[in-house]
Amino acid sequence: MGPADALDRVVYLLDRALAEGRRVAAYGKARDLARDLGDDAIARHHAEGTLLDLPGIGPSTGKVIALALDGGIDEYLADLEAETAIDVGEGAELRAALRGDCHSHTTWSDGGASTEVMARTAMALDHEYLVVTDHSPRLTVAHGLNRERLLQQLEEIERLNDELAPFRILTGIEVDILQDGSLDQDDDLLERLDVVVASVHSKLKMPAPDMTRRMVLAVASPHVDILGHCTGRKVVGSGRPQSDFDADIVFAACARFGTAVEINCRPERQDPPEELLALALDWDCRISIDTDAHAPGQLEWLAYGCDKAAKMGIEPDRIINTLPADELVDWTTTHATT
Ligand SMILES: [Zn+2]
Ligand SMILES: [Zn+2]
Repeated sequence: MGPADALDRVVYLLDRALAEGRRVAAYGKARDLARDLGDDAIARHHAEGTLLDLPGIGPSTGKVIALALDGGIDEYLADLEAETAIDVGEGAELRAALRGDCHSHTTWSDGGASTEVMARTAMALDHEYLVVTDHSPRLTVAHGLNRERLLQQLEEIERLNDELAPFRILTGIEVDILQDGSLDQDDDLLERLDVVVASVHSKLKMPAPDMTRRMVLAVASPHVDILGHCTGRKVVGSGRPQSDFDADIVFAACARFGTAVEINCRPERQDPPEELLALALDWDCRISIDTDAHAPGQLEWLAYGCDKAAKMGIEPDRIINTLPADELVDWTTTHATT
C-alpha cells in the first residue's frame, strides 16, 4: 500500500472512531498532498529526508508515510483497525436486515468526502443504497445547498447512478425546519427528491409550545419522510440539552402522517434518548436508523443504532431502511396519504 492509500485508510479509521476533527484533518491534508504529488515524489522526499519540509506533513503523518515506504504499515493499520473496530453486539441481526442508510452528507454541504466516495464506501459495506441528504440553504454554516446547487447535485447523482448500478444513490435533503414550522427548500424540489429528512438546527431553546407547533407542522408536511435527531441533544464534551417539546403530540403527528422517527446513530447525538424512543414506539411510529455520516468511516455507525433498536425490541418491519430501494421510494411517495 502506497503512502496516499495508507493515509486515506488512517482517515477512514479515525473518522469511524469520531477522532478529534483537527487530527483527522491533518491526515486528510497529508493524504491530499500525497495524491497531488504522487507516491514517487513522496518517496523521493522521504529518501532525501525532506518529508517534514512539505507543507502539512508533520511527525505523525510523516510516520505513516515512512511506514508505507519502508514496511510496517500493515501492522500499524491492523492495530488501528482493531482499536477503532465497532462492536455490533445485540444489533447484529437488525444490522444484517438494513439495506441502506437514509441520512448522509457530502462535500456539497459540510461532509468530508465526495458523493462518489461516500457511495463507494456504502457499496463496500454491502449497502444496496445510500440516501444523500445534504443541508438546506439557510444552514449557511454547513454550506447548505440553494436551488441551483441542489439541481447540480441531482445531475451528479444521476451520472454516478449510471456508473455504480445496481447500487443506488437515492436523492434527498436534510431540510431545516424553520422557526415557523415551514421547510427550507422549494416545494417542487422536495416533491422530486426520493427521501426528505427534516431537522431542527436553530433556536433549539425556544419555548415548548412553540417547538411542538414547529415540529408538528413539519412532520405533517406530505414532503417530510423522516424526523431527524428530534431532541437536538449532544452527549459528548460540553454537550447540549434536549429541546423542550410535547413528545406525545409530536409522535402522534408522526404516526398520523406516517413520518418515521429517526434513530440518529452519531455517538455524540444518540438521539432520541431511550425514554423518548419508547414513547415513539407506543405511538406506533415507523423508525429509520441513520448514521448522519459526514465522512466515509462514519457509515459504519449503523451498528450503534441497531444495537439500540434491538435493546428496545424494535422489529425489522417497523424500520424503513430494511426496505429495498424501490419499496422505500414507494413508501416515501405514499406514506402521507395512506
Ligand atoms: Zn442535522
Ligand atoms: Zn445530518
